[in-house]
Amino acid sequence: MRAVGVHADAVVAVSGFWQTTSTALRAGEEAFLIDSPVLPAELEALPSLLAQAAFPQVQGLLVTHADWDHLLGRYAFPDAPLGVPESTAARLRNEPGAAQRELRAFDDEHYVERPGPLSLGRPETTQALPVPGHCGIGERELELHPADGHTEDGMAVWIPWARVLVCGDYLSPVEIPWISEHGSATAYLATLRRLAPLVEQADHVVPGHGAVLDGTRAAAILGEDVAYLEALLERGADAPLPLARRSGAQRRIHAENVGRVAAAV
Ligand SMILES: [Zn+2]
Repeated sequence: MRAVGVHADAVVAVSGFWQTTSTALRAGEEAFLIDSPVLPAELEALPSLLAQAAFPQVQGLLVTHADWDHLLGRYAFPDAPLGVPESTAARLRNEPGAAQRELRAFDDEHYVERPGPLSLGRPETTQALPVPGHCGIGERELELHPADGHTEDGMAVWIPWARVLVCGDYLSPVEIPWISEHGSATAYLATLRRLAPLVEQADHVVPGHGAVLDGTRAAAILGEDVAYLEALLERGADAPLPLARRSGAQRRIHAENVGRVAAAV
């Protein structure tokens, strides 16, 4: 796991698996964690890593969307309450146990052992956050922006005083736009257009997967992703993939996207 300080109040850890990112954030005596690394040793190391960075104890876990690989913060901070966008709260309610099942399938496949099953806590302790909206931390406020399209739920978190955008599964340098089962290419495009003015102001953009980007690089990826999605909607399978993201794995995601777009028409 790589950890990078992007601001005095924000540290980003990038998991050794899928390069899933996790952002620790502090304001005064309060600290939050947004999303999570994937591997057990990484989750176990997080509390001491943040203590070394002189962060206060993490008192809240925010998640950008309900995909299981972003939901594992409880393994690191078992008592911290979960804050999720309303759209994610609805998804967790509508698909009870889905994250746990998918985590188990992943762990079985890769021989990963965890200290116990994933506990997301009781639904009544999960805070459903209105998005668009604000979320207080210490004496500061985070801006929450809707970010659907990859999935049917999601939010991007704008940290105004640090000029950092934590956007969930968008703007990845390693993954093409992925329209998952209940996602939508048109909603994805709308999210990218919504994020564009934030990217323009950002010193750093933290994608759900991949290394932290500076604003210029993130804007370039945003342009590539808009072009890919527009081509996907117009030309389906013939849409060219962004130059730096054409591996076999990305071609499989593209094939999946082609099926989703065809099914949505
Ligand atoms: Zn993800």
